[in-house]
Amino acid sequence: MPAKILDGKAVAKRIKEKLALEFAALRAGGRAAKLVSFAVGVDDGTTSYRKSQKKQAEALGVDYAMVDLPAEAPKDAVVAKLHELNADKSVTGIILQLPVPKHLNGEELARMIAPAKNIEGIDEVNLGAIVMKRYLNLPCTARAAVELAAESGIDMNGANAVVIGRSTIVGKPAALLLLDRNCTVTLCHSRSRDLPAIARQADILVTAIGTRAGMVTGDWIKPGAVVVDVGIIDVGEGRIRGDVDFDSASQVAGFLTPVPGGVGPVTTQMLYLNLLDAAKKA
Ligand code: NAD
Repeated sequence: MPAKILDGKAVAKRIKEKLALEFAALRAGGRAAKLVSFAVGVDDGTTSYRKSQKKQAEALGVDYAMVDLPAEAPKDAVVAKLHELNADKSVTGIILQLPVPKHLNGEELARMIAPAKNIEGIDEVNLGAIVMKRYLNLPCTARAAVELAAESGIDMNGANAVVIGRSTIVGKPAALLLLDRNCTVTLCHSRSRDLPAIARQADILVTAIGTRAGMVTGDWIKPGAVVVDVGIIDVGEGRIRGDVDFDSASQVAGFLTPVPGGVGPVTTQMLYLNLLDAAKKA
């Protein structure tokens, strides 16, 4: 029987509806959440990204503010502005728009955002908090991958989970989150031996690779497994594909996320889930 599709758009829509209700309740209690997009020397790329961020925030009832400094702003001024936003009690979450001008270091600046307000959750404090099981802001893509796997209804207790890809922002935290759901986790990477054999042990297979579209074929998959494809590979003409070969995988897997329309839409909502949690804690 062909795999059931784990429809990221539908899941994202449900999460969004729930988030809107919760943000509205906070607002009614005088605790409206506010997201600040901080940019230095805005370029066209971030402008269109910010437009969609603003639209999304407003649809959820979140206040959205753009704080901009000119491209030539010295590092001291940028750091001072970040500290100001960190200290501002009306600000719930901060997103630093990347890239930043060449005289600045984006990673270094992102680390200066107060961890509680760093809602992308990919700084060392937020990532380290996962190891301690003291979740603060969870990395959005890793969380989305695990949420989608859970959507299948699989009992994660003791399930064999295989994650392919060990990046700091996706693979590694996804493995830790699955571990916290009591999966038995194997984390693979480019040096792993005989990946197909390891993947075939997986009740839950998460791929976060991004090197070759359709690399993970049906013969890598245990019959009935839950397969979550995080990979995004640009295959030209405005099209993207995932790590998993959809046609062959869908003949074997029990559940499968499509690309596009799988992890991506859920990832966006995870940012607002972090924001909601941050607003509740503030
Ligand atoms: P990354 O390049 O930092 O990490 C890729 C990982 O894949 C590495 O750990 C590497 O060891 C492993 N890898 C590479 N080639 C391999 C191979 N042949 N066999 C086994 N493992 C191999 O990438 P990332 O930031 O973790 O992102 C992974 C993918 O997820 C990319 O395609 C990226 O575009 C996509 N992504 C999607 C979303 C989303 O919202 N859907 C968000 C972030 C990233």
